[in-house]
Amino acid sequence: MRKIRKVQCSGCGKFFVGDSIFDRHRTGEFGVDRRCFTTEEMIEKGFGSEACFVGIALEGTKSYQEKTVWFLIDNRESLLASLG
Ligand SMILES: [Zn+2]
Repeated sequence: MRKIRKVQCSGCGKFFVGDSIFDRHRTGEFGVDRRCFTTEEMIEKGFGSEACFVGIALEGTKSYQEKTVWFLIDNRESLLASLG
């Protein structure tokens, strides 16, 4: 199974394949009505999810945990290629 660097949202707790995808799952104005898309909204907007091993640093020791990771389906092939 694929291993990725952790990008986790502190708001909804979802994991993402990269910062640009992370940014795309939020909507509204900063300091006004900023929020995360719901899972249903994300699917409508072209996000997909896949189980990956995500690197988690625990007390200085790196380990991997299986998580559901979100990506944009349009970017999926290039993203997965870049992840190796
Ligand atoms: Zn979120």
